[in-house]
Amino acid sequence: MVAKVRIREELLDYLLELARNAHPNEFMGFLRAKNGVVEEVLIAPDIRPGPTSVFFNTWMLPLDDSIVGTVHSHPAPIPDPSPQDLWFFSKFGGVHLIVFYPYSRENVWAYNSEGSRIEIELVP
Ligand SMILES: [Zn+2]
Repeated sequence: MVAKVRIREELLDYLLELARNAHPNEFMGFLRAKNGVVEEVLIAPDIRPGPTSVFFNTWMLPLDDSIVGTVHSHPAPIPDPSPQDLWFFSKFGGVHLIVFYPYSRENVWAYNSEGSRIEIELVP
């Protein structure tokens, strides 16, 4: 079970920017890691933007070993995963980020696939 996620500082800032740009809708993407550090985001191609939730088809997931988890935004100041998020997290291993309003650095929380909060370590 993952206890901590290491993220490139630059990527975290980029995720915040994506969340701000998508506001008041959500954005959703997949996280890609190199050498144990999350460095890239793949924006999910088939999202249905909406103020409440994000849907996409799991069969569209890229078959890619470097995908280590997911990220999505909450346009409200709510860091907690919704029941739908928890269901989704449970379908994947790895880490799941929620970027929530007002989208500053402390508004990014990480969860494991069981929905427990885990630590974020920023890598310069
Ligand atoms: Zn959510």
